[in-house]
Amino acid sequence: MAECRTIDLPRYAVGTQHSLKVWRFGKAGARPKVYIQAGIHADELPANLAASKLLELLHKADGEGRIAGEIILVPVANPIGFNNVTLRAHNGRYHLPSGENYNRGFPDVSEAVLEAIDGRMAEGPAADLALVRGEVLKALETVTPSNEAQALRLELMKLAHDADIVLDLHTDSDAELHLYLDEDHWPEASDLAALLDAKVVMFARTSGGGPFEETIAWPYVRVREVYGADAIDLPLTVVLELRGEYDTDHGLARKDAVAALRFLTLRGAVSGKAKASKFTGMAGPFSATQTLRCPAAGILVFTAELGSTVKKGQVLAEIIDPMAGPGEAVAGQIRAAAKGRFFARSNQRLAWPGEVVGKVQCEKPLPERKGKLLYD
Ligand SMILES: [Zn+2]
Repeated sequence: MAECRTIDLPRYAVGTQHSLKVWRFGKAGARPKVYIQAGIHADELPANLAASKLLELLHKADGEGRIAGEIILVPVANPIGFNNVTLRAHNGRYHLPSGENYNRGFPDVSEAVLEAIDGRMAEGPAADLALVRGEVLKALETVTPSNEAQALRLELMKLAHDADIVLDLHTDSDAELHLYLDEDHWPEASDLAALLDAKVVMFARTSGGGPFEETIAWPYVRVREVYGADAIDLPLTVVLELRGEYDTDHGLARKDAVAALRFLTLRGAVSGKAKASKFTGMAGPFSATQTLRCPAAGILVFTAELGSTVKKGQVLAEIIDPMAGPGEAVAGQIRAAAKGRFFARSNQRLAWPGEVVGKVQCEKPLPERKGKLLYD
């Protein structure tokens, strides 16, 4: 039977308290353990909608006795941001009191874990993995959150810290479905990408800033760096960008939920048969992802279609300055750095210098894509 519990976050305001609703299907401790959350960026509503459809499917599978592993589902991972409405605009990306991006700054406990396991490994991969998982939880329990956003991050990490599979559901601004995952899981995780019909898969491990899916995997990555890749398994942690913010559509959400359930079936968390399909999108390093930045202030006008294959040097957008004189309205152009797929773009049409307004997945790493790859 499915279990639903509430986790109250610490109270950071008089008269107001936020809480998480956590669903568990299957027995605690059963494997594989799958953790799924939606909307840590709380204004990415198609992610929450897909989670809501998945909840229905899991409930049905549970009724049929088909839950074989343990599945944790948090349909609203960010109840604080879900209600961040300012001047009629929903702003769920940033924690308003601190200005922090909700999906950055997850607590990194990897050093504490490495210290704690020193001299205690080499008992076999299963025992070593159990040891590492236990130490990750212990280390998380020593962290004191600095604000409500950090208290939220900590609770989510405690729920997900020992999962075999972590699916972190997001939505881009205006985009085709795309994924971020660790390259060590490729091409094995192409089953998920194929079922979702993802158009682009980006390999990311240390993009900078400490997002959820990278930080959950990080202690395991570090242990494998020190003790060898055969020492323990690396959890599969994936960001699913479920298209664009306006894509709150019953059909699409149900399609994504069905794909997720099929994936859980292929991986043995749900029993039954599921047909695999073939991945036909692009997969490559995050350093091959061009982030399109505005060169000037003005009105953003896209000149290339979302989902199109673009050529090197092709103009993807123009910035129009309506205060410029006749013949001088084009204040700047944004061009493709290389041949690739124009898979994500901004909903916002006001341009200012430096603002990121889209992404193109290119075939090879781009020279300018070094250091911190993730923008805020
Ligand atoms: Zn997001």
